[in-house]
Amino acid sequence: MTDSTTPPSRRSVFRGLAAGGIAAAAAAPALAQTAAAPGTPATGTGTIPLANPQDRFPKPPFPVQSQPWPALQSRMTPVPDCGETSYRGTGRLAGRRALITGGDSGIGRAAAIAYAREGADVAINYLDAEQQDAEDVARLIREAGRKAILIPGDLREEAFHTRLVTTAREQLGGLDILVSNAAFQHAQTSLLDISTEQLDQTMKTNVYAMFWLTKAALPHLPPGSAIIVTSSVNADRPGQNIIDYACTKAANEAFVKAFAKQAIDKGIRVNGVAPGPFWTPLQVAGGQTEDGLKRFGSTTPLGRPGQPVELASVYVELAASTSSYTTGQIYGQTGGVGWP
Ligand code: NAD
Ligand code: MG
Repeated sequence: MTDSTTPPSRRSVFRGLAAGGIAAAAAAPALAQTAAAPGTPATGTGTIPLANPQDRFPKPPFPVQSQPWPALQSRMTPVPDCGETSYRGTGRLAGRRALITGGDSGIGRAAAIAYAREGADVAINYLDAEQQDAEDVARLIREAGRKAILIPGDLREEAFHTRLVTTAREQLGGLDILVSNAAFQHAQTSLLDISTEQLDQTMKTNVYAMFWLTKAALPHLPPGSAIIVTSSVNADRPGQNIIDYACTKAANEAFVKAFAKQAIDKGIRVNGVAPGPFWTPLQVAGGQTEDGLKRFGSTTPLGRPGQPVELASVYVELAASTSSYTTGQIYGQTGGVGWP
């Protein structure tokens, strides 16, 4: 429903394919009522002790833009705010070791930055075409004084998951936070336009990869570890133009709820995060039509999309050992749309 409305040309997507806790008083960014100039961050910095959430961060209308899949967030206008200049940690994840898929941009990047500033070493996975975004994240992790490991590779290949987990474990000296966050979404106004190729890509990226990643990591996760899966409001309130994507997000949540019951016998907690509309590259690489992108987030009670930094503390909270009674839960962050 909120991740996407109507489709851009499929050509743009498959052209790309062929090519290739609490945020310590969350140093609230300066207000930005409308889209910023190209290349400027979505927000500035500065402490706002108390601010109306409707008045924070950019609001629609957003400038028309599109990028071939997978898009780079550095080329978005405004650039998403993943907490680069604002997230402040308080040591909640000191000594932890995290692997995050899709950690180069958007929601995964916000989690990566927050984890590092909370004291964790972080490995991120992404696609080759996203190297530039990934290097930005690595720099931020290192500036936080933590280890950053970059592991590019395609999650649609089952064999890659073993390499991914092995590299992350070896480089980090173990693994105790696993964030299955990467996803593919492409809107189509008719069911008849969902090709087998698209269906395959959506299912492999959003569902198969979650299974393969978790299976590869499970034997190595010590008691106390946390697994976090990024779902979507679409799992429960599916948008009519993203049927295939919505099905995968419902699968993400069934996985969390079912696997949590099994994993707790190993001392591992499994939870999900269900965002509403968030301003990320996924939206400019096939997730929205021109018009949908322009109005993105306008139908939420907040009247705007979320910025990834607004989810950072949720990923920290679910990973932190203070949440030891939290498993099998889906944390909704929908901007007031409701559910779960
Ligand atoms: P994003 O584009 O920043 O992140 C998605 C990432 O998936 C990409 O950066 C890419 O690295 C990765 N990816 C895609 N296909 C891959 C493949 N084959 N191999 C390896 N990596 C691959 O967008 P985002 O919105 O931050 O997405 C993160 C998660 O948030 C996704 O699970 C998405 O479904 C979910 N979500 C997003 C929204 C939203 O409005 N942005 C809403 C609800 C849920
Ligand atoms: Mg990306």
